[in-house]
Amino acid sequence: MTAKRALITGVTGQDGAYLAALLLKEGYEVFGLARRSSSSDVNLSRLDWLGITSDVRIVDGNLLDLSGMIRTLREVKPDEIYNLAAQSFVKSSWQQPLLTGQVTGLGVVNLLEAIRLESPNARFYQASSSEMYGLIQESVQTETTPFYPRSPYAVAKLYGHWITVNYRESYGLHASSGILFNHESPLRGIEFVTRKVTHCIAKIKLGLAQELRLGNIDAKRDWGHSKDYVRAMWLMVQQDIADDYVIATGRTTTVRDMCKIAFEHANLEMDRYLVIDPDLFRPAEVDVLLGSPAKATAAFGWTPTISLEEMIVEMVDADLKRLSNLKSL
Ligand code: NDP
Ligand code: GDP
Repeated sequence: MTAKRALITGVTGQDGAYLAALLLKEGYEVFGLARRSSSSDVNLSRLDWLGITSDVRIVDGNLLDLSGMIRTLREVKPDEIYNLAAQSFVKSSWQQPLLTGQVTGLGVVNLLEAIRLESPNARFYQASSSEMYGLIQESVQTETTPFYPRSPYAVAKLYGHWITVNYRESYGLHASSGILFNHESPLRGIEFVTRKVTHCIAKIKLGLAQELRLGNIDAKRDWGHSKDYVRAMWLMVQQDIADDYVIATGRTTTVRDMCKIAFEHANLEMDRYLVIDPDLFRPAEVDVLLGSPAKATAAFGWTPTISLEEMIVEMVDADLKRLSNLKSL
């Protein structure tokens, strides 16, 4: 039997790297769409971290380029397509609302059009987000909770979500949307709050920083581990019938309490180092997110396996290791 082929957009990002590792383990041929950058051609540091760079076949491309997407599908002939590419940082979406709309929103329909024209039998996964719930309309969010996006990012993701549903209903594409709550790991971008915290604590520990500046530490998030969440993406795509699923842990924690876990693990006193910076507050905030993965659990047995505490400890240790290595160079 020939190996299945998967195409991952956003393969250079956090989830792209973990998903590539999972699919390789499952015996897939993995192709990753990556955009060229002038400084380093393509940034493969996350694939390097997982030791899989030479196993992933990088395809040059950009979600904004429809003709390139069509050509990519013609060449790769994927069985499964995972659309993880996005301008994914909420705060930047107020600085770059149009770009965020183009990549995170319209980029999805570029890819869906390419699939409709070139690979209509391929299965498609869209990386939707709990940010779409924004100003929450129900205390526990599920697939039926109404959306109320609170940032240009969330508005763009809402377009991506509904256009995925629409192409499924209009053209019968096997297109699923995973509404994933925040998920983190040592490979998380340094601008997101968990990694910002663990990276800064490692710097403090090594004498490279004196303080940690944060914005709204009363915000609450339902945090899981990227490794668990990419498994949910894959399982979703294996279902006979495409559908939408919430992926979450069912536990919500304040940014303050998440920080405490990290400071305690590093044996540092949080109150000595934490500074609240009003410039880091957002024009509109998502105060609390809490999801129920009950539908995914019932459909394909998914449950999270890594706790917030285990994840934060892993992240602090990974940042300490990375920075210690740099320091000793
Ligand atoms: P990252 O920010 O780590 O990765 C985003 C990826 O998108 C990068 O590989 C980036 O490439 C790529 N990309 C950006 N713009 C383009 C473009 N125009 N064309 C092609 N590629 C592009 O995100 P995560 O891995 O954390 O998240 C994966 C997806 O899941 C994203 O869509 C995100 O919005 C969504 N999501 C994430 C959640 C989370 O908590 N992590 C929660 C819910 C949804 P480059 O390396 O060149 O910048
Ligand atoms: P988001 O949920 O996708 O926006 O993920 P983030 O990790 O960027 O932010 C999670 C929460 O942490 C939000 O409510 C932010 O307002 C809050 N937060 C508080 N201080 C900071 C900070 O310095 N950086 C980031 N990224 N978020 C912060």
